[in-house]
Amino acid sequence: MFKKVLIANRSEIATRVIRACKELDIATVAIFSEPDSEAIHVKKADEAYLVGPGPVEGYLNVAGIVELAQKVGADAIHPGYGFLAENPKLPLFCEKKGITFIGPSSEVISLMGDKIEAKRSAIKAGIITVPGSEGSVTTDEEALKICENIGYPVMVKATGGGGGRGLRVVNSRDELINSISVARSEAKGAFGNTEIFIEKYIERPHHIEFQILADKYGNTIHLGERDCSIQRRHQKIIEIAPSLILDEKLRQKMGEAAIAISKSVNYTNAGTVEFLVDKNNDFYFIEMNTRIQVEHTVTEAVTGIDIVKKQIEIAAGLPLEIKQEDVQIRGYAIECRINAEDPKKDFMPNVGKVSAYYSPGGIGVRIDGAAYKDYVIPGYFDSMLAKLTVSGMTWQETVARMRRSLSEFTLRGVKTTIPYQLEIMKNEKFIKGDFDTSFIAENPQLMEYKEYRDSLDIILALAAAIAAHEGL
Ligand code: ADP
Ligand code: ADP
Ligand code: MG
Repeated sequence: MFKKVLIANRSEIATRVIRACKELDIATVAIFSEPDSEAIHVKKADEAYLVGPGPVEGYLNVAGIVELAQKVGADAIHPGYGFLAENPKLPLFCEKKGITFIGPSSEVISLMGDKIEAKRSAIKAGIITVPGSEGSVTTDEEALKICENIGYPVMVKATGGGGGRGLRVVNSRDELINSISVARSEAKGAFGNTEIFIEKYIERPHHIEFQILADKYGNTIHLGERDCSIQRRHQKIIEIAPSLILDEKLRQKMGEAAIAISKSVNYTNAGTVEFLVDKNNDFYFIEMNTRIQVEHTVTEAVTGIDIVKKQIEIAAGLPLEIKQEDVQIRGYAIECRINAEDPKKDFMPNVGKVSAYYSPGGIGVRIDGAAYKDYVIPGYFDSMLAKLTVSGMTWQETVARMRRSLSEFTLRGVKTTIPYQLEIMKNEKFIKGDFDTSFIAENPQLMEYKEYRDSLDIILALAAAIAAHEGL
């Protein structure tokens, strides 16, 4: 087993990895840029080093990070998600320096990081993908012809896209050319790659993804699915396990498909195979994420399996001890991404200082947090402040538990997604499981929430009542 792991990421996911390392008795090394000097992961790691230059570039500096790992005696690097997690250079640099990369091979990251190549791999493995262009689309004429064939609406996608960026829905011929150029420029800014392709836009699908674990000895299993249909601008904000729309038969079929794709590319470590499921329960592969995902916590909650620890064990060369038949899904789990955003202003991120922070607790409640009282949110990174994951025996209990936990959450000083997510937890359709990826866009009334009374309000009101009673 490793002695010391460097975590090439920040905030809650770095903390998540530190927690796994602690349980495995592995020392941890954090990295941070200047605006992150007070970030939670810096406080929690055994050692922490400033990486530069600039607020963000230091986190992206592959050579610098690998050198640092070598200098401080780390024998492995965990990339978290985002930043370097899908950069094939990191495992290559690690290999050169004799450091283990906790993740899949550089080859498979390159292959699956290219959405066109990933779709080709899926097709080769016998899995259906969303109909669309054969590969990348280079000319306007080509684009127009493909869309004539598959019919509108279509989706224009950046080959190297991720995190909901570089995607454009196109409803008619008139919009196509402009949308392609917007998608290209967004992709160039975000991923340095202007390549795009086109897919049929599936109406009202569910986003269903399967968690994969694969060791270095050919053992590949799945840990069931997550339903990530509650999205705004194609970005997930609430995730659920297991899905309410899958029966055992479909679960098995999709799980087998996810394993087949992973095996066909010799995938190792943790990964996620993403599908869209349409109204007829037909499923289509869309992409594979070759890293730990934000929402892995809901799978951990319903399986009891620590996925990050498994990542570390697999990277260290241990065989998977869990067999497919050992994986049992128990109850339900929901995750809310608590973001510093104003839902009423189109989820605009906001920065500022957290003036009060009390996280919820009690049975079935898990917090993966990045915020604390007086924490100043740096504006350079994504806006997630915490992940609230709750689990329960039944769907109804889990929703009630999330409602209770959100209303206990005190996070003041910035606007957050909490009151909006609370509104979703009260929504009849959501409670009935009647939702798909169009849920947020089609329910604008959810924006009309009032600010909730958080637990600090309740404590202060109680104190005031006592003071009044005592005549203070
Ligand atoms: P997940 O895929 O884990 O559900 P997100 O899509 O929100 O969650 O991605 C997690 C983080 O990784 C976000 O900060 C997102 O911007 C970033 N990210 C995702 N894909 C890529 C990519 N291909 N390149 C760079 N960053 C990415
Ligand atoms: P990213 O790399 O940003 O995660 P994905 O390809 O996984 O991009 O798509 C993100 C989301 O966009 C999906 O979860 C889904 O809601 C929507 N989406 C993607 N492809 C399609 C499609 N062909 N039809 C309808 N919706 C789609
Ligand atoms: Mg995706």
